[in-house]
Amino acid sequence: MQAEFKSLFDLLKAIPDEQAAIDHFTAIRWRNGAFCPFCGSVKVYHFSDKRTHKCGDCKKRFSIKVGTIFEDSKIALQKWLMAIWMLTSHKKGIASTTLARDIDVTQKTAWFMLHRLRHAAVTGSFNEPLDGTVEADETFVGGKEKNKHANKRVGGTQGGKGKAVVFGMLDRDGDVRAIHTTNLKAKNVQGIIGEHVKPGSTIMTDEHVSFTGLSRSYVHHTVNHSAGEYVRDYCIHTNGIEGVWALLKRQIIGIHHFVSPKHLSRYLDEMTWRFNRRDMPDGGRVNSLIAFAEGRRLTYRELAA
Ligand SMILES: [Zn+2]
Repeated sequence: MQAEFKSLFDLLKAIPDEQAAIDHFTAIRWRNGAFCPFCGSVKVYHFSDKRTHKCGDCKKRFSIKVGTIFEDSKIALQKWLMAIWMLTSHKKGIASTTLARDIDVTQKTAWFMLHRLRHAAVTGSFNEPLDGTVEADETFVGGKEKNKHANKRVGGTQGGKGKAVVFGMLDRDGDVRAIHTTNLKAKNVQGIIGEHVKPGSTIMTDEHVSFTGLSRSYVHHTVNHSAGEYVRDYCIHTNGIEGVWALLKRQIIGIHHFVSPKHLSRYLDEMTWRFNRRDMPDGGRVNSLIAFAEGRRLTYRELAA
């Protein structure tokens, strides 16, 4: 049975040992019934050790971890669940050094676990397009903090050398999306918007030229940041998405200190995943991430590449 918990204490009580962790994960992964991770058959036999299963069609044996992000890891599932708790309940995320200390693994292992979990967050991140009223804006990561609003655009290099461009969209009543991208040219920016925001939605942006033409598919409102205007008619502004950028920077600077561009997407996925579940109780967030454990596993080699 799937356990419910409201605190780390509850989690440890509900999942006191490895078998309980396996049972919990099994209940979530097979919530619609058991299936073979190799051929998809639902003819599955269960061994009395409560850990081994066998497919009635392809005859392969497997554990519940096969085909998930937990596959091939010698880390106890109980530790994974604790790591998920910590990752999802700390608003600003968690450093690998802290996780290593708290669940008693090496820092290298903790780093690997966090990256695998971020990968899991990705698979569930970009499901439905945003609609309603959406604020769109960009930010630069890795650059100097003086780059704000109107003066942050410096022509073709867009934010300067060594800075990563992140483009974001916030549905005022719901989710945020943040994408690590290469440039702020109109074609690129509007391509991202088209992919993530339902046509016909209302979009709030500043007056950057890359947004010109959005009104063909959207109800487009702008504020003129370069003229010192930040809110028009009480509701036309991009303060919401800018608040998300402030949160992102506190997380990157405060917790991780530095994020290499190579890994930026995963940190963005982690941050937006947590943000999009901000109204969910901590235990709900944990089970929600566990449910995303399905899928192609990410190897250490891929991460280190
Ligand atoms: Zn099979």
